[in-house]
Amino acid sequence: MSEPAVIDLRGLSRSFPGTPPVEALQRVDLVVRRGEYVSIVGPSGSGKSTLLHILGLLDRPTAGDYLLDGVSTATVSENERAHLRGGRIGFVFQAFHLLPHRTVLDNVLLATLYSGVPRAERRERALAALDRVGLSHRLDFLPTVLSGGERQRVAVARAVISQPHVLLADEPTGNLDSVTSEGVLDLFEELHADGLTLVVITHDPKVSARAQRQVRIADGRLSEVA
Ligand code: ADP
Ligand code: MG
Repeated sequence: MSEPAVIDLRGLSRSFPGTPPVEALQRVDLVVRRGEYVSIVGPSGSGKSTLLHILGLLDRPTAGDYLLDGVSTATVSENERAHLRGGRIGFVFQAFHLLPHRTVLDNVLLATLYSGVPRAERRERALAALDRVGLSHRLDFLPTVLSGGERQRVAVARAVISQPHVLLADEPTGNLDSVTSEGVLDLFEELHADGLTLVVITHDPKVSARAQRQVRIADGRLSEVA
């Protein structure tokens, strides 16, 4: 039996107003099942960021629907979308987006600030997440003194500490050299082996090739890579 769909896009479109309007996503269908590691690969301007924003519930489609864990999200309230986003989606960005004046441990701890989990347990989880990404020796460092690869590992720890249903990564190696990139992609592979569902968005065919399944995006349309 196949795993349940975490992400299910149904005839989803996103257009931006203009003359003529920009059809950034055009009747896109995509199912990502629990435990899959999927890449979405395409050139600049193909619709990757638009798609990531919709997958992350940061933007809404102009037509069609997006079911997250089977729940339609196209028309739910902003409050409900924020709740779903916080509870189910982890983000990793090209530019890391760490808090520069907080330690590594704090950066990860803060991700669970409003989780309702007691502080002692949040601390345990943060320590475990940082151990998972190989940064137990950097707990009290500021992000500014870390290497790019270490910073991205902190961002990954921060993203997975809430046990998201899916991790969305937007050009996660875009600011890293190729050796460091390999390290982050190795980490993704390990997290996938642990059961995490991942969607990695990239323009780089080498990064894309590390996924279990590749989907190409071109002019706002998706096609599976054989
Ligand atoms: P990618 O991330 O693959 O480079 P984007 O999703 O950013 O592509 O953009 C896809 C298309 O949508 C491009 O033609 C872009 O100019 C257009 N686009 C993206 N965001 C907006 C916006 N806010 N307003 C108007 N056009 C946009
Ligand atoms: Mg983009």
